[in-house]
Amino acid sequence: MTETADVVIIGSGIVGSSVAYHLAEAGCTNVLVIEREPHQGKGSTGKSMGGVRAQFSTPVNIQMSIYSIDFFAKFDEVIGYPGDYRAHGYLFCATHERHLKYLHANRERQLALGLKNVEIVSRDDIARFVPQLRVDDILGGTYCSTDGFVDPHSVMMGFMLKAREGGVRLWLDTPVTGIEVENGQVSGIATRRGRVATRVVVNAAGPWAAEVAGMAGAKLPVEPLRRQLVPTEPFDKLPKRFPMVIDMSTGFHFRREGAGILMAWNDPEETPGFKTDFDPTFVEKVLIRAADRVPCLADAAVNPRRSWAGLYEMTPDHHAILGPASGVGGLYFANGFSGHGVMHSPASGRITADLILNGRSDLIDTSQLRVERFEKGELLEETAIL
Ligand SMILES: Cc1cc2nc3c(=O)[nH]c(=O)nc-3n(C[C@H](O)[C@H](O)[C@H](O)COP(=O)(O)OP(=O)(O)OC[C@H]3O[C@@H](n4cnc5c(N)ncnc54)[C@H](O)[C@@H]3O)c2cc1C
Repeated sequence: MTETADVVIIGSGIVGSSVAYHLAEAGCTNVLVIEREPHQGKGSTGKSMGGVRAQFSTPVNIQMSIYSIDFFAKFDEVIGYPGDYRAHGYLFCATHERHLKYLHANRERQLALGLKNVEIVSRDDIARFVPQLRVDDILGGTYCSTDGFVDPHSVMMGFMLKAREGGVRLWLDTPVTGIEVENGQVSGIATRRGRVATRVVVNAAGPWAAEVAGMAGAKLPVEPLRRQLVPTEPFDKLPKRFPMVIDMSTGFHFRREGAGILMAWNDPEETPGFKTDFDPTFVEKVLIRAADRVPCLADAAVNPRRSWAGLYEMTPDHHAILGPASGVGGLYFANGFSGHGVMHSPASGRITADLILNGRSDLIDTSQLRVERFEKGELLEETAIL
C-alpha cells in the first residue's frame, strides 16, 4: 500500500522540525518528515555556533529575529523541552566611523520595528564587558541584551518531539530520491522505503536544497559554503559570562562555550562546495585575528581535532527563500538561510505553516522572500552577516 501524508517535509534539521511543529500546532498532523540520515542533526544544525540576534540591517531579518527570539525566550514553557536560550547579548565593536554610522542606522530601523533594547555603547562600556579586549582603536558599538545563544540540537529535538506528540511521523535513514509532479502539481515522492502520495512537499534540505528542488524540476539558488569554528581548551583568562563579541575590523567573533572560548571568522578565500573537512591551516588564521583583538587569547590552547567545519546555505542576497516554488504547485521552500537558520527557525516554521494552511502569513510580508525575486531582479541585501 502506498503511504499518504497531507504534507511531506524533506529534512529533519532545525528548520524541518520547526515546520513540523508549527503545522501540528495549527492542527495539521498528517505530516511525514523524511530524513536520510540515521539521526537528526547531521546537517548544518549540528555544526552551528548557536548564535541568535536581532541586530540585522534589513526589516525582514529584524522582524524574523524579533519573533524568533521571543519564541526562544518561552521555548521551554511552550514546547516542554529545553532550548537553552541564554540572553548574553551580542556586542558589535566599531573601529571606523563608517561602522558606527552603519550600526546607528541599523539601530534606528530596529527601534522602529519594535526592538527597544539595542543600546549605543562607548569604548569604556565595551571594555567593561570584556576587560581583556584591546580597545585603543574601538570607537564604540551597539549591544542588544536579548541577543544571545541557544543549543541548536536541543531546539531541533524539542520541536520534533513536540510535533511527534501531536501526531507527526518521522522516518529516519530514508533518502528522498524523487519528487513526482503531474500537470505542474506535486503528487508524491519516491524514497528508499517506497512511494508516498502527497500534494504538499516542503524542501527543508539545508545545504542540499538545490538538489532536492531539482528533483521537481525547480531551480533554487542555494549554494553550500564551508564555515569553520575553533574552540579553545578550558580558558579562564576571560570572564565566565560575556556577550558574543564582534570585531568589525576583521569580522572575528567569539563567545564562551563551557569552560573554553568558541572562535569564528569568515574566511573570504573560502569557495562554494560540499567541503565539510576541517582545514588545520584555519587555526592560525583565526588565532591571528583573535590575538590581535584579545591579546590573552594568544595563550589559549587549541586542539585542531576538536575544531569543526559545516556548511552555510547561501543565497545571492543572503536572505532565506520561503514560500511556494514557481511553476510547481504544492512545493514549498524553507531554504537558503545564509548562516541564520538556527536563529530564524521559529519564524520560518511559523511562516511556512501559515503559507501552506492559509496561503498567507501576518508575521512578515512574505512576498519579499519568494524565490521569484531572483528572476525579477528584486534582491534584498543583508550586510550584517557574520
Ligand atoms: C559552522 C556553522 C556555524 C553556524 N552558526 C550559526 C549561528 O550562530 N546562528 C544561526 O542561526 N545559524 C548558524 N549557522 C547556520 C545554521 O546552522 C543553518 O542555517 C541551519 O542549521 C539550517 O537548518 P536546516 O534544517 O535548514 O538544515 P540542516 O540542519 O542541514 O538539515 C537539512 C537536513 O536535510 C537532510 N536531507 C538532505 N537531502 C535529503 C534527502 N534527499 N532526503 C532526505 N533528507 C535529506 C539532511 O540530511 C539534513 O539532516 C551555522 C552553520 C555553520 C555550518
